Amino acid sequence: MIVIVGAGPAGLSTAIHAGQAGAVHVSVLDGNAMAGRKLLITGGGRCNVTHDLDPRAFQKSFGAGGRFLSYALHEYPVSDVITFFKQRGLAMRIEPNGCVFPRTDRASDVRDILVQEAVTLGVQFKYNQSVTAIQKQDDRFLITLQGDTLMADRVILATGGQSYPQTGSTGDGYGFARALGHTVVTPRPSLVPLVLTQHWPREVAGTALEHVTLTAVQDGKPVLASGTLVFTQNGIGGPAAQDMSRFLTDDLPSPDSPIPVFMDCLTNVSLSQLDTWLCDLCQDQPKKAVVTLVSTLIPKRLAKVVCGLCECEDTLPACQLSKPKRQQLAQTIKALELSVVDTRSMEEAIVTRGGIATDQIHPKTMGSRLCPGLYFAGEVINVDGPCGGYHLQMCWSSGAVAGCAAAC
Ligand SMILES: Cc1cc2nc3c(=O)[nH]c(=O)nc-3n(C[C@H](O)[C@H](O)[C@H](O)COP(=O)(O)OP(=O)(O)OC[C@H]3O[C@@H](n4cnc5c(N)ncnc54)[C@H](O)[C@@H]3O)c2cc1C
Repeated sequence: MIVIVGAGPAGLSTAIHAGQAGAVHVSVLDGNAMAGRKLLITGGGRCNVTHDLDPRAFQKSFGAGGRFLSYALHEYPVSDVITFFKQRGLAMRIEPNGCVFPRTDRASDVRDILVQEAVTLGVQFKYNQSVTAIQKQDDRFLITLQGDTLMADRVILATGGQSYPQTGSTGDGYGFARALGHTVVTPRPSLVPLVLTQHWPREVAGTALEHVTLTAVQDGKPVLASGTLVFTQNGIGGPAAQDMSRFLTDDLPSPDSPIPVFMDCLTNVSLSQLDTWLCDLCQDQPKKAVVTLVSTLIPKRLAKVVCGLCECEDTLPACQLSKPKRQQLAQTIKALELSVVDTRSMEEAIVTRGGIATDQIHPKTMGSRLCPGLYFAGEVINVDGPCGGYHLQMCWSSGAVAGCAAAC
């Protein structure tokens, strides 16, 4: 008997691959009343299923955790995931940035196909079944549910991380793994909005910029994150900020020592090009206010902030803008200093950084090196990547490997 704890994407992939590999008694337990509650809200309900990259590049995107995933990503790569859904009537669309979505733009279609496939393979789903403890008894596992117990030969922990706990991912798997001898790397919120010391973001809250690049320095090396950015009441969100949070969450800043992050508002334009543009704009429209001209380059409310930071009054006409001031404006647009003091909480984090230590898991089986018969799949493992479909691919691939191995 194989018991999978968690009916999220990792648990569903595990169940399908265990079934395909010939396992006959496979049960999936979930505390929720349905499978894939978090999966349903992925990609804003559209589900960014994976990312169109070759396995090597994919692996690199996970940073230090990439090596651990290398085997799983080769065994069950992006192309196999796309084929799996296509063969079951759900074609995928690859967007120009590499993100892969179902053509129907419905996460529920992804979830339904996975559940249907598992059911066809004979997998049993047991909902509203919260596991409270897992103990090893000789070669088997005693699984305690609320008001019931169950014996299993193999257990796969696919309980997810701790982010968005309202979806059922409350971090229970960490406790189960600890009780079975595993080390858990402290879970931290990742792909999460950042909190700044500056007060001005609230003046531009809701303003979105495409194609920004954020740069910070970590261990003496620059780290970059790019994409869309949205200002929030007390900081920055959106994919660029979320990707940057991955790097900053390890050395959480304190109010006394914020981490400087520089924001390039116009990534596709060089500093000298921008200065030339500003110069031309001022010459062509000398009577216009500088802030109005800057508003043609960046959103109006942000233009006001940038001019304020450069001490350019709102009424200052372009003909009175000095060369040093113009250069300062260009410099500020290309490297707007933000001081990160915190991340938002786990409740707002897209994923959890941290989890079951990978050196205690065999990468070719996802099996425990400490507790025979125990396996892991998905976000419960200490591996995290950037925004863009990477986490679901990690779930599909680690689940595939765990399911096959547990069935053997
Ligand atoms: C808003 C949002 C949008 C996202 N969008 C994307 C996206 O578009 N693309 C992408 O790649 N990633 C996305 N992610 C991340 C992705 O959803 C997760 O990485 C992924 O769901 C993790 O899958 P999992 O199966 O490991 O865990 P989960 O999906 O968290 O599933 C774990 C399951 O285990 C169950 N469980 C936990 N504890 C117990 C217990 N004690 N007993 C019984 N059951 C239990 C839970 O109820 C849950 O159903 C998004 C995340 C969020 C929050």
